[in-house]
Amino acid sequence: MIPYGRQSISEDDIQAVVDILRSDYLTQGPAVPAFESAVAKYCKAKHAVAVNSATSALHIACLALGVGPGDIVWTSPITFVASANCVLYCGAQVEFVDIDPKTYNLSVEQLAQKLEAAEKQGKLPKVVIPVHLCGQSCDMAAIFALSQRYGFKVIEDASHAIGGRYKNEPVGNCKYSDITVFSFHPVKIITTGEGGMALTNDANIAERLQLLRSHGITRDESKMTHASDGPWYYQQIDLGFNYRMTDIQAALGLSQMRRLDEFVIKRHEIARQYDLFLADVSVMTPWQHPDVYSAFHLYVVRLQVGNKNRREVFESLRAEGIGVNLHYIPVYRQPYYEQFGYNRSDYPEAEKYYAEAISIPIFPSLSHQMQSKVKEKIASILR
Ligand SMILES: *Cc1c(COP(=O)(O)O)cnc(C)c1O
Repeated sequence: MIPYGRQSISEDDIQAVVDILRSDYLTQGPAVPAFESAVAKYCKAKHAVAVNSATSALHIACLALGVGPGDIVWTSPITFVASANCVLYCGAQVEFVDIDPKTYNLSVEQLAQKLEAAEKQGKLPKVVIPVHLCGQSCDMAAIFALSQRYGFKVIEDASHAIGGRYKNEPVGNCKYSDITVFSFHPVKIITTGEGGMALTNDANIAERLQLLRSHGITRDESKMTHASDGPWYYQQIDLGFNYRMTDIQAALGLSQMRRLDEFVIKRHEIARQYDLFLADVSVMTPWQHPDVYSAFHLYVVRLQVGNKNRREVFESLRAEGIGVNLHYIPVYRQPYYEQFGYNRSDYPEAEKYYAEAISIPIFPSLSHQMQSKVKEKIASILR
């Protein structure tokens, strides 16, 4: 089976991990801050806090922005469940904003309308979490303008988007947001096995994130409630978690960063090949906003149904060894979310997308031969 995505591991990556295994620190050593600096520098953000997953990063990002019981947070329904679960972890409520029919990202028009209505009802969100689906940045300048007008904070779920750009600047620079989150799961753009990172330009937020990822413990005397008892002393001043990344993971991440641009260029080449090839097949290829350079985590085609339905195409491709997938089932359709009473008819674009979308394989080590096989099978099924 050719998967929809997979990691690319070099001999240098392996050596970087081996070096850590032979060193003094498997965790809480120098590799984590080195990886954080490399990502912060690449993204032009002031602070980066590495954690054990993007899910953890989203959780502590919400906490760092003060999300708690009684608060409302909005996100896109077409995302991985983690973008919404992080809100529930904090005891807050999550609401969804329908997607844009061209980019499949949270629709800025829908967001503006929903904000206007929410203001009248006194139900404005504390935070909005735009998700850069497939690696294509949301229209962050427009979302930022709305955040200024309505007074909400912004967390970018950029799990798909490291290496991507928006208005010629790297995703992750937090120019239009309070916090940006990346995932380093093996199917994503770069990997640490499991891992994530939260970036911010705000020193206070960075400090909160650091505290929350490690039990709420500080060794900084200026943060303590009274003078230190001695050199052994630390204080727990908040309720945090063990969300730390290991040095083994960080060394892999740091090594992968060297090939980030190469990975994204390769993903663009594959996408261009698909665009050309699929031009005369009855599917909708991914539309790219002119302000955006996608990281192309996913290549999603939408079937313009007529001759064959999506399930049939999906099953045929799987049977032919093409590991197609569906990103994503709208979060409000998940059984756990049904208790909150969402109404499918509030999200007509997400419903249409869910009926038509298929992710086809895209990853840096997808060979020409493999891509030809994918193209052949798609053609024989769809033509
Ligand atoms: C992968 C992903 C996450 C979660 O990432 P983990 O690192 O696996 O916790 C969150 N949001 C989106 C959009 C994702 O694709």
